[in-house]
Amino acid sequence: MNTLQPKKIFIEKEVVNSSVTQQILSKLPDVTVEYIDDYRSIRIEGSTTDDVFKESKECLAIARKKGGLVKEFRCRDGIIGNTEYFISHGNNCNLDCEYCFLQSYFDNAVPTVFINHDEILTAIKDVLLAAGDKKTVFHAGELCDALAFDDLTGLSRKLIPLFSEYPNARLELRTKTTTIENLLTIPGTNNIVISWTFSPQLIVDAYEHKTPSLEKRVRAAEEVQRAGYNVGICLDPIILCEDWFNNYKAMLEMLFDRLDIARIKFVSLGGFRYLPSLTRVIKERNPKTSLLLGEFVPCVDGKYRYFRPIRVKAYREIGKVIREITRDVKMSLCMETPEVWNGVKDALR
Ligand code: SF4
Repeated sequence: MNTLQPKKIFIEKEVVNSSVTQQILSKLPDVTVEYIDDYRSIRIEGSTTDDVFKESKECLAIARKKGGLVKEFRCRDGIIGNTEYFISHGNNCNLDCEYCFLQSYFDNAVPTVFINHDEILTAIKDVLLAAGDKKTVFHAGELCDALAFDDLTGLSRKLIPLFSEYPNARLELRTKTTTIENLLTIPGTNNIVISWTFSPQLIVDAYEHKTPSLEKRVRAAEEVQRAGYNVGICLDPIILCEDWFNNYKAMLEMLFDRLDIARIKFVSLGGFRYLPSLTRVIKERNPKTSLLLGEFVPCVDGKYRYFRPIRVKAYREIGKVIREITRDVKMSLCMETPEVWNGVKDALR
């Protein structure tokens, strides 16, 4: 359940009368509203970078996304991965992960929901119809947690029935939240996957500020499985803290013990990575952080990752833990180089 109570709501003037805007306002009746022309021009003041982020995340913006409602996501050269589509349903979120790349991505950090749902659904349908019988994968959660505002916007109640009509397409909703109430009111179909980022509790405590605990995420995943949904397990970012192996091993054993393995669609593994532009924000906001203390090296896409032999060892060891529990779950790497994939693929098969 979401307990979001923003201090202030910014509303673009052109969407004031939208039914989704009115629905959100009816759920947040006592919040101060400011009417604006364009969500991209919102500026939040603060005496430190951290103040600006914290204050921004206490607000909510309601806006219309103009163009780019569904974007093709291709990995950059030198990084392996399939072409997928991501649904642009919002920017930023109210949670505050220390490693979040969005901190250096947008001009402001105000969580923003795009409420032109009809246009979003039409853009998705256009891609689905053009794809015909070809298998396609869509996901929501790239630039905003997929479910963080779902209790306010109800977008999942529109997306899931749409994808239920297109069994060749998969919809993945990526989240760290427990905002699953809408999902429980709609029957899950085989092509819908609700994926959680699962992190050992000491990582949640250290870096995933304001997020639900590991235990709460697992309970939400159990509940959506019982409602007929598949779940995905994202170990991304894997953070190599002290005693990381025993922490990840214990978490995986608990996850595979409690979740129905037949309804785990995949496990995806991705080491912590960052663009140099993010380090300034991380250091300014968290001067004592240990997040950047590992042995990081620049990679072909400009991002810094743990030194390659360290990543290979970590993926292999995590893969081995999972393979000792089950051979029935598909594992893959997220945003990795072919060299790393070649070094670990036998351990993940
Ligand atoms: S949940 Fe995702 S989008 Fe939200 S702060 Fe964390 S990493 Fe960023």
